[in-house]
Amino acid sequence: MVYRRTLRREVACTGIGLHCGRPVRLRLVPAPAEHGIRFARTDVGVEIPATLAHIGSQDHATTLSKDGVSIGTVEHLLAALAGLGIDDVRVEVDGPEVPVLDGSAAPFVILLHEAGLRPLAVPRQLLRVTQPVEVVHGAKTARLVPSQHFEVSYSIGFDHPLLRHQALALRVTPRSFTDLIAPARTFGFLREVELLRKSGLALGGSLENAVVIGETGVLNNKLRFEDEFVRHKILDAIGDLALLGHPLLGRLEATKAGHALHAAVARKLVATPGAYELVPAGAAAEVQGPIGARQLRPAGGLS
Ligand SMILES: [Zn+2]
Repeated sequence: MVYRRTLRREVACTGIGLHCGRPVRLRLVPAPAEHGIRFARTDVGVEIPATLAHIGSQDHATTLSKDGVSIGTVEHLLAALAGLGIDDVRVEVDGPEVPVLDGSAAPFVILLHEAGLRPLAVPRQLLRVTQPVEVVHGAKTARLVPSQHFEVSYSIGFDHPLLRHQALALRVTPRSFTDLIAPARTFGFLREVELLRKSGLALGGSLENAVVIGETGVLNNKLRFEDEFVRHKILDAIGDLALLGHPLLGRLEATKAGHALHAAVARKLVATPGAYELVPAGAAAEVQGPIGARQLRPAGGLS
């Protein structure tokens, strides 16, 4: 039997919001079983559950909203919680956005390790995919298919000489998430950064919290992985799929997808009768196991 987990003690940090550019204080507080992950905007007194039903805008980041109040850039923290197998936490934020920190999930993983984990008295249930579902938007696809484990297979390609193609498939376990996915940072193209700023986005963005791709190379000193970009897409997908509200037992197969498609395929799964079932998390193999990364093809471009 595997039990739901919360934090052993509360932890906090402060950082700036990627889009608002202002400092935000984040506090992670232990919660009772079945509480789920909920974001509390302490500055305005509104609590927003991290579920598919509360997805607001998905422009460049995933925003949750309720009663006209929103909390932005939730996906990296959600990925860290899901990646480490944490079910019940109250997330307090005193501003409109989760701090971006270094643009990856690694600082959240460190914070969660600092908090420690505590099992609760309620067994954990997994959302098992029983029938494939797929969403296609032109060349972008996202598919959820049955699997014995939580796996992600992702490929990306951009019209840019440095990033024609990257692909990676792996089984998501606390260990593979921590070592292979959590450190991968947000990225953007220099040509888009100005446009984002003009529309009031990415005001807190810098080379400290994003990899910026220029015409001839990466503006940052170096990448953390040769294929850091596809790893970050996997990170985003893990965070977005956490909005299902249960750990997933199935494989996401995504091509050129993003936040909107991750959410669309998750919504389609739960809206399709017979496409999923809730099963008790029993077998240790579902949460533990060896690092399962394999390169689908050599990572393209960035040498
Ligand atoms: Zn991201």
